[in-house]
Amino acid sequence: MDRIVSLAKRRGFIFQSSEIYGGLNGFWDYGPLGVALKRNLKECWWQDMVAGHDELATLSGAPSPYEMTGLNCTIIMHPQVWKCSGHFDLFHDWMVDCHESKKRYRYDHLQGRWASHRDKKVFVTTDVSGDDALSDLVGKAQKFFKLRAKQIDEIVWEGELVPLAGATPAEAIPRAEALGPDATEPGTLTEPREFNLMFETRIGALAGDADDRAFLRPETAQGIFVNFKNVLDTSRVRVPFGIGQIGKSFRNEITPRNFTFRSREFEQMEIEFFCRPDDSRSWYQFWRDRRWRWYLDLGLTEGRLQLREHEAAELAHYSRGTADIEYAFPFLADGEYGELEGIAHRGDFDLRSHMEGKLVRRDGELVLETGPDGKPRHRGSGRDLSYFDDVSRERYVPHVIEPSAGADRAVLAFLCDAYREDSVPDEKGNPRERTVLKLHPRLAPLKAAILPLVKKDGMPEVAIDLYRNLKKRMPCMYDEKGSVGRRYARQDEAGTPWCLTIDGQTMTDNTVTLRDRDSLSQERVPIAECVDLLTERLQ
Ligand code: ATP
Repeated sequence: MDRIVSLAKRRGFIFQSSEIYGGLNGFWDYGPLGVALKRNLKECWWQDMVAGHDELATLSGAPSPYEMTGLNCTIIMHPQVWKCSGHFDLFHDWMVDCHESKKRYRYDHLQGRWASHRDKKVFVTTDVSGDDALSDLVGKAQKFFKLRAKQIDEIVWEGELVPLAGATPAEAIPRAEALGPDATEPGTLTEPREFNLMFETRIGALAGDADDRAFLRPETAQGIFVNFKNVLDTSRVRVPFGIGQIGKSFRNEITPRNFTFRSREFEQMEIEFFCRPDDSRSWYQFWRDRRWRWYLDLGLTEGRLQLREHEAAELAHYSRGTADIEYAFPFLADGEYGELEGIAHRGDFDLRSHMEGKLVRRDGELVLETGPDGKPRHRGSGRDLSYFDDVSRERYVPHVIEPSAGADRAVLAFLCDAYREDSVPDEKGNPRERTVLKLHPRLAPLKAAILPLVKKDGMPEVAIDLYRNLKKRMPCMYDEKGSVGRRYARQDEAGTPWCLTIDGQTMTDNTVTLRDRDSLSQERVPIAECVDLLTERLQ
């Protein structure tokens, strides 16, 4: 992972936000290559899911043909949206603060072990996950007991690594005996407290009242639900149909970590798919499989991907089924996976919430939550968001299947998956180590590089001409600096699938060498055919 992060920075894929001021935790910028990679990823999603969708065909596994359309909603919405959706009351994590270090941790990220040395015993905690957790604990215990490196074997460890929260609340570790990850004495961690993950802001010049609070959206989905009727009334879509949206979301994560994996500002690619309640199970399965295939088709290694159905206990109260597509990120321990996308069967929860108000589950039914005065806790819009099917003459509230993906997590997964170190023969046939990003050509920031072998004999002129023609079709670059081996190496690191080299032979027979990043094959291609050939390969 360290090598991937360092390549990402060195080659201009991803930088820490506001780096010259020391950076801002949980915020990331995409550099020249990164912005192209991320745009390509979002383009692929939009093209494959929305713009390029064939609504006349019945796709494999789909119960029927369906339509797709798009939307772009605001980041700040009416505060009532979040009250009815449940985010205002429920979108929180548990956190603990440390009085001594002033640091804040996610309660479910703290784990530890009992350690004793002579007559002192303490529960040492860490917020490090994965394989490094145990070694981190040893370092912390050594510091606490004030031991030299050679004395660490004197520490007596008891039991396994367990969460500070315990498997059940009764088993939670007594706070007085727990040593915080950055504390020097036990007893400095607070009891867990709820922390709402929505960023707050205020609207307008007269900001100041408690009630003018607004929120940066923590997901793009709600913008789609509240526009459901607008889309129905203004386009010709009929159920079943989906609305796709790509956009920024914000979550004030307590502990952003693992590079861009858990950020505070990130982009989501979400579909809300509206269908008849009777067909919703089949549509759920269709979307689960379709989204799974999408990652494979763009080149993620199947062995590092996992489709995980949630257990009943893990489901949100409104959900009738959720599956996560997860990737074995290199920063995780062996056997652990991180979520790329969740596909949820949400029933009619969302549309009903925005009609009636905030819903809760009671005796297996979703009912309007009421306050002590018997009035709705959060009142809905009162607008009718049901659907009238003019063929079957039925009126119903559509059920929703939601494939919700993170653009940043997908970029990170594709970067990690594409990263290889191998050895290739140089110009003299000697093995040379190289770092290469084996990105799918659709994702690659640059599709081709045009390289004149030398800066003379008319080669640059021919190369520039080809570069200008190709650039009209796809992002490519012209590079004449350094040996051809060095230039290939630069392109390999950037993930460029093809290099076109203009050499002595070009000047006699009008052919160029087309080098393939992955197979390293070198074919001679007539210069006049290059643009069409690469366009075709890209498709
Ligand atoms: P997690 O459990 O990892 O916090 P989540 O289940 O809360 O994720 P969802 O609410 O299902 O995530 O959001 C849908 C998608 O949005 C996720 O699969 C992920 O790709 C992306 N996402 C969510 N939170 C973040 C974040 N903090 N940083 C980057 N991407 C995120």
